[in-house]
Amino acid sequence: MDNIDGHFEFEVIRYLVLKKMAGDELLLRATYDYMVHDLNIRDLADLYGYSRTVIRATKQRIIEKSGGDRRLAKEIVARTTREIIRHVPRYGVGRLYGLCTLCRMYIDNDHIVDHFDKYHSDLINAYARMILEMLRRNDKNAKVVRQT
Ligand SMILES: [Zn+2]
Repeated sequence: MDNIDGHFEFEVIRYLVLKKMAGDELLLRATYDYMVHDLNIRDLADLYGYSRTVIRATKQRIIEKSGGDRRLAKEIVARTTREIIRHVPRYGVGRLYGLCTLCRMYIDNDHIVDHFDKYHSDLINAYARMILEMLRRNDKNAKVVRQT
């Protein structure tokens, strides 16, 4: 599939938004440090409390969502992670059992991301569009700065 109308950007952003909503902010930070700053994955696993396998799998998933374009994947992560952490609320809480605060339902932690994807897809899409628009606005401002 081609990157028509920012299709890949949207897919990556949607994936990151979903993680933030479900409560995986630390995984977003770990992935950011791994992909953008090339930090040692062993150190990141210790620091953030996620296994190396999970951090690697998250990076791999992001690359897939970018249509296999590693450079694009890194750029999107670099440019949107902070904004997503800042602007997208966390609706999933708990470590052992997850609670979705939107529907007041307890969910097994292994399924909480799937729960958000399945039942709160519209909200995820709305936040993903908002972040994509912020990205576009920054692009436009950057162009204006370069022209002057
Ligand atoms: Zn829910």
